[in-house]
Amino acid sequence: MSNSVHIIGGGMAGVEAAWACARAGVAVIIHEMRPKTGTFAHRTGDLAEMVCSNSFRSDDDQQNAVGLLHWEMRAAGSLVMEMAARHRLPAGGALAVDRDAFSRDVTRAIRSHPLISVVEEEVTEMPGHGLWIIATGPLTSGSLAESIRQITGAEQLAFFDAIAPIVYADSIDMDVAWRQSRYDKGDTEEERTAYINCPMTKEQYEVFLDALLAAEKTTFHEGETAGYFDGCLPVEVMAERGRETLRFGPMKPVGLTNAHRPEIKPYAVVQLRRDNALGTLYNIVGFQTKMKYGAQTDVFRMIPGLENASFARLGGIHRNTFINSPTLLDAEMRLRARPNLRFAGQITGVEGYVESAAMGLLAGRLAAAELQGETLPAVPATTAIGALLNHITGGAVAKTFQPMNVNFGLFPPLAEARGGRRGRADRYKGYTDRAKDDWAGWLRPEAGAQAAE
Ligand SMILES: Cc1cc2nc3c(=O)[nH]c(=O)nc-3n(C[C@H](O)[C@H](O)[C@H](O)COP(=O)(O)OP(=O)(O)OC[C@H]3O[C@@H](n4cnc5c(N)ncnc54)[C@H](O)[C@@H]3O)c2cc1C
Repeated sequence: MSNSVHIIGGGMAGVEAAWACARAGVAVIIHEMRPKTGTFAHRTGDLAEMVCSNSFRSDDDQQNAVGLLHWEMRAAGSLVMEMAARHRLPAGGALAVDRDAFSRDVTRAIRSHPLISVVEEEVTEMPGHGLWIIATGPLTSGSLAESIRQITGAEQLAFFDAIAPIVYADSIDMDVAWRQSRYDKGDTEEERTAYINCPMTKEQYEVFLDALLAAEKTTFHEGETAGYFDGCLPVEVMAERGRETLRFGPMKPVGLTNAHRPEIKPYAVVQLRRDNALGTLYNIVGFQTKMKYGAQTDVFRMIPGLENASFARLGGIHRNTFINSPTLLDAEMRLRARPNLRFAGQITGVEGYVESAAMGLLAGRLAAAELQGETLPAVPATTAIGALLNHITGGAVAKTFQPMNVNFGLFPPLAEARGGRRGRADRYKGYTDRAKDDWAGWLRPEAGAQAAE
């Protein structure tokens, strides 16, 4: 057996995976297709290129889940975080960087590490033997994607995401909304009450529709659109097709009775469906959208019951290659059907530079341990990295799986925390304190065990 780990893709996930392996004393070979073969979004041949925004988002490790992810990555020796600190730009509470200097220094660090080599080539087929990490990202090259499809099955690989906004369950006004599945379908009470329903009168529907149509939208990047209309029409495009289209589509009111006012038949109903096993997150069914983020919160808070909604993530539609991880991957991010192949980064169904890098870091540690004949303890689901891992490898509903940013809705609830907006600051501090303790314990199990004695 080879004593190296191979990584396909030298983006955010690939470089972190390589760095984690090298730190563990394991040799790595990165196979990166750029600059020989490009994508529509990348501009350079550098590793870890930031293709759009130059921000790693909030750096607040006490009140923000992505800030916590930064903290956990730093504690684990992240290369991305080290170089981000070196090239940080003033951006309030956000971690923004000089993108070219950042990527250049990541590339330099990777290329000069004695245990890491970089081969400039496109890998066109899923590898056979050896330990591999596939970190080819949202713009995985066509031939490799085709090879992944052949192994996983066509329906397990998507080329576009269609993200409906996700709302924290405890921010939905249940004095207005009610739980019921259409026609009370289902064998168990849980099934019969699987959806949360928000009713609209005719007047509310008309005003909502006007706002939806008038809202500012984002556009696709050049080269991004081919094939996007396959089954993921944005809600506003449906609305443009006629004022009744939504009432006969995702907002149809049939088979539902308002539990608070059974005598009044709603004119339209917005449905929310559970998005994770914990039941802390609900997605607005059929509301994938290209509306700008600010417009989304304004428009969606017009829905009765969602006036005070907190959004774990807003909607979007992007060119994005990702696998159905909850079905395909085991808890160590290995393809169940071919356990010598690990996936990492955005292709696993996390979204964003930071989440992708974090999943790369973890995949690198897991692969290095495996090569060294060790098994790492399970990553605590109470940490940001563990919560993301848990979501993509089992916590998310596989049938409707869509990419996910890190957010506190993915964390197991705190037993003693106060719900609602008022308790939010204490709750978030509780999540981040717990995560930091548990992550430190995972990184140094012997220290954690000693502390517990
Ligand atoms: C248009 C666009 C805009 C985005 N904007 C943002 C944003 O503003 N903020 C944000 O946080 N995230 C953004 N993202 C998402 C962000 O790009 C990803 O979250 C992040 O880069 C994913 O990291 P990754 O390592 O998984 O993939 P990447 O960083 O994309 O790295 C994958 C690497 O694999 C290489 N590769 C692909 N196929 C092969 C192959 N067959 N053989 C060898 N190498 C291969 C690619 O060249 C690339 O270097 C955007 C994505 C796109 C497409």
